[in-house]
Amino acid sequence: MSRVTLGVALLVGLVLCAASLAAQQPVDAEYTARIRELTPTDPKWKFTTELVDYLPASATVPTPLKVLGYVPGTIGKLSYVADINRYFRAVAAASPRVKLFSLGLSDEGREMILLAIADEETITRLDDYRGRSARLADPRGLSGEERKRLVAAAKPIYWLTGSIHSPETGSPEMLMELAYRLAVDESERTQSIRKNVITLITPVLEVDGRDRVVDVYQLTRQLKLPRGAVSLPYWGKYTAHDNNRDGMVLSQQLTRNYMKGFLYWRPVVGHDLHESVPFLYTSTGTGPYNDEFDPIVVNEWHQLAYEEINELTKRGLPGVWTHGFYDGWAPNYVLAIANLHNAIGRFYETYTSSGADCHTVNLPAAGLERVWYRPNPPVNGVKWCIRSNINYQQSGVLVALKYVADNRTTFLDNYVTKAERMVQRGRTSAPYAFVIPHGQRRAAEAADLVNLFRSHGTEVQVASSDGALLRKPGGSDTTKVAVKAGDWIVRMDQPYTQTARTLLAIQRYKPDDPQPYDDTGWTIDALRHVETIQVADSAVLAMPMTMLVVDAKVTGTVTGSGPTYLVPHLGDWRSAVLPWQAAGLKVAVAESAFTAEGQQYAAGTFIVTEGKGTAARDAINGLGLKGAATAVAPAVAQHPVQLPRIALMHTWRETQNEGWVRFALDQMGVPFTYISDQSLRTPGSLDRFDVVVFPHAAAFGGGGSSTLLNGAPMIGPPIPWKKTALTPNLGLWDQTDDMRPGMGLDGAAALRRFVERGGLLLVEGVTSELPVNLGFTPSVSLTPARTLRARGAVYRAQVVRTDSPILYGYERRTFPVYFNQAPLLSVQQPDTSVTARENEAIMDPAQVAEQKRMRGRVILQFHERADSLLVSGLLVGGEELARKAAVIDAPLGLGHVVYFAIRPFWRWQTQGSFAMALNAIANWNALR
Ligand SMILES: [Zn+2]
Repeated sequence: MSRVTLGVALLVGLVLCAASLAAQQPVDAEYTARIRELTPTDPKWKFTTELVDYLPASATVPTPLKVLGYVPGTIGKLSYVADINRYFRAVAAASPRVKLFSLGLSDEGREMILLAIADEETITRLDDYRGRSARLADPRGLSGEERKRLVAAAKPIYWLTGSIHSPETGSPEMLMELAYRLAVDESERTQSIRKNVITLITPVLEVDGRDRVVDVYQLTRQLKLPRGAVSLPYWGKYTAHDNNRDGMVLSQQLTRNYMKGFLYWRPVVGHDLHESVPFLYTSTGTGPYNDEFDPIVVNEWHQLAYEEINELTKRGLPGVWTHGFYDGWAPNYVLAIANLHNAIGRFYETYTSSGADCHTVNLPAAGLERVWYRPNPPVNGVKWCIRSNINYQQSGVLVALKYVADNRTTFLDNYVTKAERMVQRGRTSAPYAFVIPHGQRRAAEAADLVNLFRSHGTEVQVASSDGALLRKPGGSDTTKVAVKAGDWIVRMDQPYTQTARTLLAIQRYKPDDPQPYDDTGWTIDALRHVETIQVADSAVLAMPMTMLVVDAKVTGTVTGSGPTYLVPHLGDWRSAVLPWQAAGLKVAVAESAFTAEGQQYAAGTFIVTEGKGTAARDAINGLGLKGAATAVAPAVAQHPVQLPRIALMHTWRETQNEGWVRFALDQMGVPFTYISDQSLRTPGSLDRFDVVVFPHAAAFGGGGSSTLLNGAPMIGPPIPWKKTALTPNLGLWDQTDDMRPGMGLDGAAALRRFVERGGLLLVEGVTSELPVNLGFTPSVSLTPARTLRARGAVYRAQVVRTDSPILYGYERRTFPVYFNQAPLLSVQQPDTSVTARENEAIMDPAQVAEQKRMRGRVILQFHERADSLLVSGLLVGGEELARKAAVIDAPLGLGHVVYFAIRPFWRWQTQGSFAMALNAIANWNALR
């Protein structure tokens, strides 16, 4: 070979190298071989694609195998959060295409992370790109030229989030491999994704639950139990599956971290990875879609979903489908944060293997049918492994990322268009604003709502002067709505108004709409008993106002002087917790209305006697209440508040529902002792308590009171929930040697004795059925629903007994409450027949009085008229709900069972009902 020829050959080699880097990029042979071993093969079906059936080699960036010692999808292998985060940090340290960010800590102090991946140029200028996204997200004042330039120059940010639901174990494993692939793969496809999209990866949203599920998986393997045999009673500190029902009220740390991350990055897509239905469901939903989702986003869901279905089906994967799962109505999911902020919120459900195993697919016939939205259904009888799940998820995500890369400017243009439409809508159509009066009765609660809107990135203004707006402009009606200086104004001519719109709207879920997936009504001002005004007069936009730049805070006031403080109960939780906040002082409650120094006070007014210092004033001010100091204590019938020793009781089946109650008590500063229902089996265990709160708890196997009582079947070995070397993340909040037993008959008897000797048992939702079925309070009965459909929504309740301490502070005779389908409770009416009256005449009067005393009293009922029941959401068959009890106070011996058919502490949404439960607790020994 001549030197010239050699030179030409070298040159050709170099050109080839540059032109087809991908072809020349070596494959990581060991890793690739493992992927192929782990992927099930089938003569007829494929469970992988060419996008993920290999791993490119890198001389610098470590693979999961190198750092963690296994290939994601290996049987028996799941990583803890610390290891997952360690892997992501290793990738970030090794690759200039990757940068790692912290999203903040969880409730238990584990770190949530975010990894950004793009080409090197983009990563070095990430702040510029974030700035462009932010400018597109808020296009107010953006010129046409600037808009065009930005759409051309910006890059869509696509945020993938894994494992919000802890038993859905595959996504964190998949996301580790995806991060590596996106960082190192030199295929033209992946280069295009890196060049045109900024991919964000949060491998685990529920970091606390992830560590627990890994523990439980190891325990299941050690005990040689079948898949799913060990339940996961705790995921996060407070919530389990409901961590994905917090998108509206942002109460949990993980949601707050996500929301902050969202506002920092302004992603165009938020994609949440779930696992349940086979094999890959890509979200669109059956509808009805939430009214506030822009029509463009609804189309974008479909566009992306059909791209994935086409591309994956083409590659031979069975069971990729859309539409027939979830509705798109309640915006309480984490992905709703994207959908309510002009981005695209979407999710997958891939088929899980519950842990890191394989099994043979065995689905009910309905899931295998070929229907229009599932033309290529999943199949039975094939082997499915965790690696199949990883292959499906990863292939789908790679298709979506490529599609967004290919259509970069279209998605960016849609993104800014949606924001422009929101601003324009608020400028040109009612409502132009919501006014939240500062002077309202429950002002501190109103301030919380204002702050919630601010957390969602919605601007809130404060009126600088008084004004008046037409209630119904454009007609002959000239009635005006007063706006006072200091009132909060949420203008609608800004890009992020959808959350405020949907939270303050009336939801109309139609009876013939598809079965709802979750709550159907959530109107938050109704549930929180906050006054808001929807403004139809565009003049509001011209009113003088200033931007609120820090969170709103309502400070209380104390007028007058003297050693006694009179504090009206406002019917909110801040009033109701005053006895706890004023601990150490003498707090009494007026049992009837009275006048003091010319001022009228209702029953329920607190009479606080100052010790030394400013403790009373501090408590009143801190809670935003209005107190009056007076020289002379009022001469009114009163009882002292004797703060009870509270037990909050959980089962080992699930803690999520009591978790919301626990969260509320923690937030309000009400101390309690946390016990399990099993502890009731120990004699005397309730001796140290005055109040037992037993929140709604799903029973084992979905059964009723008997399974709630007995727990899980006692088959097989004991199933511990304990901190051990094998399971270091269990046992933090409570522990047991065996999760299976419930309270048993001994526990039920102990509970009864506890009430009989003077305790208060507070039950809600399903746990209300237990004392009824055990016959604790014979006058209370349960009715099964026949045609009622009252699915998680807002209904009107009516006060029945104005003399109950439970209703202290509630000034209205009807008000909205949250209710979800069951239980339907009643108290038998007293027997007024001739025979009964004749019998009473011959009885000892004391005996007659005792008989009357033991009868349960309905304190609050659902509205007496079926057509007046519905405030917001779905209602069918309302006749069955009308006049049923919402709250009952039923005596037993010296104590009481207080039944809540409503859910007073529902998902940090129902603040308007909090005080009823707190009042019952604070007045546990003075309910009559
Ligand atoms: Zn899920």
